[in-house]
Amino acid sequence: MSEAWSDVLAALDDRPPLDPGGTALIVSAHPDDEVVALGSWLSQQSGRDLLFVTATDGEASHPGDPHLTPDVLVGRRPLELVEALRRLGIENPAVERLRLRDGGLATSTSALLSLLEPWVERADLVVAPFEIDGHPDHDAVGQACRALCTTQVLWRYPIWTWEWDVPQAQEWLSDLRRLDTTVEARRLKVHALEAFVTQVEPAAPGAEPVVTSSLLAHAKTAPEVVVA
Ligand SMILES: [Zn+2]
Repeated sequence: MSEAWSDVLAALDDRPPLDPGGTALIVSAHPDDEVVALGSWLSQQSGRDLLFVTATDGEASHPGDPHLTPDVLVGRRPLELVEALRRLGIENPAVERLRLRDGGLATSTSALLSLLEPWVERADLVVAPFEIDGHPDHDAVGQACRALCTTQVLWRYPIWTWEWDVPQAQEWLSDLRRLDTTVEARRLKVHALEAFVTQVEPAAPGAEPVVTSSLLAHAKTAPEVVVA
């Protein structure tokens, strides 16, 4: 994360985002986005109804890798998410897999809308990727959720945004809201992130993991922030 972003995040006041209570729907493009962005917050939500929807199984994270093929990843990544959520204190999480094509969500708008609609309708709070995060899959899921939320409160979570330069004069910068956390919630998040073995560990000695060291460091240490 750039120093400029650190300054922006450090300057945020303590006004939390509006949480209507009730059922929270947590939507991700890939099974790990939600924990990377909001693991600490999730660990504090075990008393409420939580629904998880993953648009893809994240099978395209290792293109060309002879071991972590798409078939292998389809078998592993959804289980990594369940284990991570368990480490956050969410036993038997309800995770709906839409099984859309990883890397192809930008051209799956109508499928995304129709598959997500019944889930959004069940929710009071929808937590979805930020629609201008800069990853085509994240952006597509975020745009679909934004279009579907009518009465629901929508929180949009950035992931890759923190890797870019701080944009100038964007209206949404004033909508950044920091979520409360605790030392214990942070500890649980760090433990949960380690469950994403295919993503946080190098596929081969010396290789950079899919979740880069800078992204992982941000996930472990920076405040959790949503646009809301
Ligand atoms: Zn992702």
